[in-house]
Amino acid sequence: MSQRISIEEILHTYEKNRLANKRILQERKEEIYAKIPRVEELMTEKKLSYLDIAKRRISKDVPEDTCQEQSNTRLLTEEIKGLLLEAGYPEDYLEPIYTCQCCKDTGYVGLEKCGCFMEQIIQSLYLQSNLSNILLKENFDTFSFEYYNKKKTSDREFSPYDNIVKVVEKAKAFVQAFEDEKNNRGNILIYGETGLGKTFLSNCIAKELLDKKHTVLYLSANELFETVLGGYLMQQKKELEELYKYVYNCELLIIDDLGTELNNNFVSSQLFEIINKRELTGRSTLISTNMSMVELRGRYSERIMSRLIANYTIFNIYGDDIRYQKRKKAIHSNYTG
Ligand SMILES: [Zn+2]
Repeated sequence: MSQRISIEEILHTYEKNRLANKRILQERKEEIYAKIPRVEELMTEKKLSYLDIAKRRISKDVPEDTCQEQSNTRLLTEEIKGLLLEAGYPEDYLEPIYTCQCCKDTGYVGLEKCGCFMEQIIQSLYLQSNLSNILLKENFDTFSFEYYNKKKTSDREFSPYDNIVKVVEKAKAFVQAFEDEKNNRGNILIYGETGLGKTFLSNCIAKELLDKKHTVLYLSANELFETVLGGYLMQQKKELEELYKYVYNCELLIIDDLGTELNNNFVSSQLFEIINKRELTGRSTLISTNMSMVELRGRYSERIMSRLIANYTIFNIYGDDIRYQKRKKAIHSNYTG
């Protein structure tokens, strides 16, 4: 999410939808009027009748025959429908076309933003972050275990391989819990050094949930604290309001790379707010970090740590840097053939 979400751009897509739908309707009218001229007469009559009602409303000259007028337009509508059906068209073929029936392509239902507005914000977020492309490549089907060593070292209970197998199993169980539970779906903290597949694993979970139409917001710690929270709360950027709300309302919030953001009181208090409020409202959070538990404890407040330990399933991923292994492999295959 390198750019800000532009509300104007989203409103512009509504404008485009309205125009496109109007054009389709216009083409339909031309088609029908050519085939069934009587429909054009009826449509004109209907329009005049509406105009008449409107005019009387404005001039507050509300005569007893307004009801009469209204039933007149109803009759005209019925006749049009009949003619359309007779000719093999759907009866609403000449009714206004809306991409979203709820808000009639205005983005608003009364004073509230329509659900489709939120969808557009999320979509533009994903397009900007390129997440949709990444998720095609990084999902449970493409997760590779081959880079995790099967040899156990003395300081660990499990080999990196046995460990990651368990972690992936638990990650899948987490996704499943989203289907089975409305609340109490749980939270995840993934920690381990860089290059061990933490982000890849978060992407797997994100993809699975997005495919099942759950709402997922994926932000790096930097984007979350600096761009969204800092932008909205400190710099008063109104256009970030929806996104700010979404940090609290989405079903899964993924905070990637916690610990890479600037360290200050604002971050610490906001992180607590997020963890705490999302927990209270039964929404899930996934945090990934390169920091060890000891480092986290040193960096964030005790109240944050106690929440994490009490309410998060903790995955520790360890092994040898996958990126380094891949590079080595690439060099090796270059030499051997
Ligand atoms: Zn809508």
